Amino acid sequence: MLWYTSDALVRLSCGDGTSRGVVKLNHIYKQYAQGRTIVTALHDVCLEVGPGEFCALMGPSGCGKSTLLNVIGGLDHQTAGTVALDGRSTDDFSDADWTTLRRECIGLVFQAFHLLPGLSAAENVALPLLLSGHSGGRAGRLVAECLDAVGMRERERHRPGELSGGEQQRVAIARALVPRPKLLLADDPTGNLDSRQGAEVIALLRSLPRRFGATVIVATHSREAAQQADIVHGLRDGCLESGAGSATL
Ligand code: ADP
Repeated sequence: MLWYTSDALVRLSCGDGTSRGVVKLNHIYKQYAQGRTIVTALHDVCLEVGPGEFCALMGPSGCGKSTLLNVIGGLDHQTAGTVALDGRSTDDFSDADWTTLRRECIGLVFQAFHLLPGLSAAENVALPLLLSGHSGGRAGRLVAECLDAVGMRERERHRPGELSGGEQQRVAIARALVPRPKLLLADDPTGNLDSRQGAEVIALLRSLPRRFGATVIVATHSREAAQQADIVHGLRDGCLESGAGSATL
């Protein structure tokens, strides 16, 4: 069954649905022009991520991790190559289609949390539902469930400034979980956290495939984080190195 159901997306998708990788990247290149200089952020990246995998993209700062996640989530677009989600090409997706897809099916988690400081934890988690036109009792139950899932229900009335970094990241993860995404993309989610809080956040992300059936892709330069992954893909200067089980790290 397709994990994105929006009519527009199904109508626009043009893959044959025979390849069932949740994410499949074929020969992705991404170049940025900076004046006369061309920066190649991604070079011939091919990657397949299967359902329920916890996959780490690992490499030093500047190697292309964020760019790769942005291309997978449609926040940025490749210069060449194709992105297929659930066996369907995204070639024909408009920006509006990508926005719908992210709202309905893709959870995003960032290093800097990006919570709204004037809203409580529960209000931050509710935001995606409000933007999709959902409110009332069912929305309230979903918010409570997601806060429970990340262990932050008791802090639901607290604003971000009253929470530690790790707690803020938990709230951000709850917000990403609200639409019950099949794919969750986390860009350096432990980058602003100390090692204990970072380990807790990684353990939480690690539990999402089992608890929510989500496929999780984490960009990280933390070896400890990558050690939790089912598969680790190294990135160096925009090139993907072959995947390895975390045991080989
Ligand atoms: P990482 O997430 O691994 O730190 P990035 O994906 O952010 O790496 O960056 C990869 C390369 O692409 C870097 O050389 C960076 O400077 C360059 N880059 C990223 N975004 C842009 C941009 N908008 N314009 C120009 N260069 C960029």
